[in-house]
Amino acid sequence: MTNDASAEKHAPQIISRAAHTVSRKDISDSALKVLYRLHKAGFQAFLVGGCVRDALVGLHPKDFDVATDATPDEVRALFSNARLIGRRFRLAHVRFGREIIEVATFRAAAISKHDDVEHDDHGRIIRDNVYGTIEEDVWRRDFTCNALYYNIADFSIWDYVGGCQDIDERKIALIGEAGQRMREDPVRMLRAVRFAAKLDFRIADDVRRAMHEHVGLLTNVPAARLFDEFMKLFQSGYAEKTYRLLSEFGLFAEMFPATAQELKANPGYQEFILAALRNTDRRIASGKSITPMFLLGVFFWQPSLRLAAEHREKEHMSEAQALSLAAYELVGAQQKRISIPKRFTIPMREMLALQPRFEITRGKRALKLLEHRRFRAAYDFMILRSEVGQSDSELADFWTDVQKLSASDRANRLQVLKKPPQHGRRRRRRRRGKSTAGSS
Ligand code: ATP
Ligand code: MG
Repeated sequence: MTNDASAEKHAPQIISRAAHTVSRKDISDSALKVLYRLHKAGFQAFLVGGCVRDALVGLHPKDFDVATDATPDEVRALFSNARLIGRRFRLAHVRFGREIIEVATFRAAAISKHDDVEHDDHGRIIRDNVYGTIEEDVWRRDFTCNALYYNIADFSIWDYVGGCQDIDERKIALIGEAGQRMREDPVRMLRAVRFAAKLDFRIADDVRRAMHEHVGLLTNVPAARLFDEFMKLFQSGYAEKTYRLLSEFGLFAEMFPATAQELKANPGYQEFILAALRNTDRRIASGKSITPMFLLGVFFWQPSLRLAAEHREKEHMSEAQALSLAAYELVGAQQKRISIPKRFTIPMREMLALQPRFEITRGKRALKLLEHRRFRAAYDFMILRSEVGQSDSELADFWTDVQKLSASDRANRLQVLKKPPQHGRRRRRRRRGKSTAGSS
C-alpha cells in the first residue's frame, strides 16, 4: 500500500453486493434518498467512512456520509433542503427533520503534490481544498476501515486500500506511511484510540510506533478541535477502554496535564477516575443522559483538592471558596490544551465547590443544598466519591434517604437530626444561628 501520486491510479477491489454484508436496511431512508437522487442526476454517489465500517462490523451506523463527484453547488441545486457549510472545505448538509446527511465532493489527497495543500512547521495539514476524483479522495482518509465506498449504482463496495481485509482482521491500520499520516494530523492518534475502543480492534504495529513517537504533536492541534474529540472519546460508551488506551500512549497526559501530574503523585486517584468512566459507560448503555461536566469534574477533582489546600494554607478562605478558585485556575490552564466551553466549566466548578457542603447535614444550609440547582450533579459526584472510599458512606446514605422524603419531612429531618454523622471535620462558624440563611 502506498499513497504517492502513482497510487491514485490504483483500481479498487470491487466487492459485489452478494459478497458483503451491508444491506440497505442498515442505511437510513434519508441517506438512501440522497444517494438515489444524486445517482439519477448522473453523478457518482457513495456512502463512505464510519457508516460503511460500522455496518460491516454489525454496528448500527449513527450518521451517514455521502461522497460524490457533484460539486457543492450541484448538490445544492438538487436538494432544496441542502445548506452549504464549511470554510476550510465546502460541504453540503442535506436536512431531513433532525437527521443531517453530509454530502462531500471528492477531494484530492492532501499528501499528493497539489499546491493547495498547506502544512505547518510540523507537517500538519492546515488547508487542503482541492476537488478530485474518488481515486484521489480515498488517499486523504485516515484508516483503511474508514476508506470503504458503498456504491448506490449496484450496491457494491469499492476498496482501494485493503480496508475489508483489515476489518476482517479487526485491525486499525493507517493508509500510507504511519508516521507521516500522524504528523499531518495528530488528531488521528486520538481517532485510532477511539475506533480501537469502539470496534474492539487492535492498533497495527506501525501505527502504535508512530503514536508513541508523535504523542507530543498533539499540543499543536487547536484547542477547540480537541474539545470535540474529547466529547467523542468519552461519550461514545467506551470511555473506560478509551482512557486505558489514551494512557498507554501518553495521550491522556497530553490532553489533561494536571490530571496526569496528580496521577503520578497519587496513583490511587486512578480508581476514582475508572469508577467514573465505568459509570459513564453504564449510563450510556442504559440510555441515560450524561454531561461532560461530570467527567471533567472527575479529572479536575484531585488536582483541585490539592491546589485548594495550598490556597487555604496561605489565605483565609472556606473550603468551598478554595475549591472553586482552584478549579477556576486549573480550568484556565486547561484551556490551552482543550478549550472547554463555559457552559460546562461553570457548573463543573459549582459541582466541585458543593462537595464540602454534604458534610453539613442539618439546618438551613443543608436544606438549601437540596434545593441548589447543581444538587443532582453534586450528589452523583459525592456518591461516586463514597463508592471509592473518598467520602463517608453513611453520609451518602443520609443524602440518598433525605431526598425521598416529602418537603415537610425533609425539613424535619434536616433540623431534627441531633448529631451529623461523624466525619472528622471542624464545625464552622456559620452554624452559630438561624439568621444566616442568606449566605451561600
Ligand atoms: P464516527 O462517525 O463513528 O465518529 P467516522 O469514521 O464516520 O466515525 P467522522 O469524523 O464522521 O468519522 O469522519 C468521516 C470520515 O472522514 C472518516 O471515516 C474518514 O474517512 C474521514 N476522516 C475524518 N477525519 C479524518 C482525519 N482526521 N483524517 C483523515 N480522514 C478523516
Ligand atoms: Mg461519521
